[in-house]
Amino acid sequence: MKIIKAEIYEMSLALSEVYRKYGVWHPVILRLTTDDGVTGLGEAGLAYGVGHRGAIGSLRDFLEKFVIGCDPFDREVVWDHMHSRSFWGSAIGPVICSAMSAVDIALWDIVGKSLDQPIWRLLGGRVQESLRCYASQIQFGWSGDGGWELLGRAEDYAEAAAQAVKEGYDCVKIDPLQLTEDGAMGSPLHTKGLLDNRIIRRVRTRMEAIREAVGDDTDIILELHSLTSLTGGQQLAEACADLRLFMVEEAVNYGSDRPSKCLKQRLPHMAIAAGERIFTRWQYRGYLEDQSLDVIQPDFCLVGGITEGRKICDMAHAYDVTVQGHICGSPISTAAAMHVETAIPNFQIHEHHVNATCRPNRDICVQDPQPVNGRMRASDTPGLGLDLNDDYVSKHSQLTVVK
Ligand code: MG
Repeated sequence: MKIIKAEIYEMSLALSEVYRKYGVWHPVILRLTTDDGVTGLGEAGLAYGVGHRGAIGSLRDFLEKFVIGCDPFDREVVWDHMHSRSFWGSAIGPVICSAMSAVDIALWDIVGKSLDQPIWRLLGGRVQESLRCYASQIQFGWSGDGGWELLGRAEDYAEAAAQAVKEGYDCVKIDPLQLTEDGAMGSPLHTKGLLDNRIIRRVRTRMEAIREAVGDDTDIILELHSLTSLTGGQQLAEACADLRLFMVEEAVNYGSDRPSKCLKQRLPHMAIAAGERIFTRWQYRGYLEDQSLDVIQPDFCLVGGITEGRKICDMAHAYDVTVQGHICGSPISTAAAMHVETAIPNFQIHEHHVNATCRPNRDICVQDPQPVNGRMRASDTPGLGLDLNDDYVSKHSQLTVVK
């Protein structure tokens, strides 16, 4: 069996009217086809931020050079070629690693379909019967039917959190720093270095309102999106410490593992999480050896795919570090994470992002993986268990074909 065709879909979607003003959601989706007619789906995880066209360029290069003509069962061989024989691959980074991830996930999908097995089974079986989920990024609202808005008032944060709990979630994640009091994107105040009291009060007030709304039995994750640097991250975590945070996420910059180590030393009694901008086992190594992260967040559409993501999860296990996959993409991103999370013993919790609840994103695939009562269960369908909604995807994409 060999790969004979690749389609790259550069999607452009507005998740809501508000989102349209803020920017465009652009999942990059890959579909590989074999000479037997089996297809596999993958995703390069740069749907948000700026840079997804870089992934398309890298994908084209990798497909032409290493993927067309390969046997999909040679996943490790293909991965090694993309990493070590491309010259730049071994220096890693989001653009190259997202392209490697898309290829790797699509190969796993093909192998699963060829063997008539779901990917979690090929990874070792159903270690997790179901996955505990959290409602993620509720500063963008949580309306129950996929609304996407920008929240300003503390009472709106409380209401969004309460809505998630009403739907059955027992954990929510919030970035209380990202939006201004007026609910505008981008703080006019400085969020690096020492924080002034106005920012600390804004964060504290929102977090307090959420704790009050959800009660004592719901976990709360404080997300900071690396908007803070070391001292500011520490200030905000300490300001919310009595609210019993489940974990503090992305409180420091990436680029070096040193600030993360310092943060853990300064906040020894708090669980620290990060990982969506850490790539491959080589970059994770320092964080694990320092024990500076309690929970890692590999994004399987960024970290090097399922092949690399599984290795990172296993490395983390040796350090008693647990895993919440970072998931902010199309349903392919959700499914890829669920297969790995299902098959590992050190699974912590599954991220269900507000973007994953928005209809324009849910329509990308025929299947629509959504939590029920705050839990999800990986599908028994062979491969990823997903099919592209072809008409919809074609309508909202620019297509590049590589043969
Ligand atoms: Mg995050």
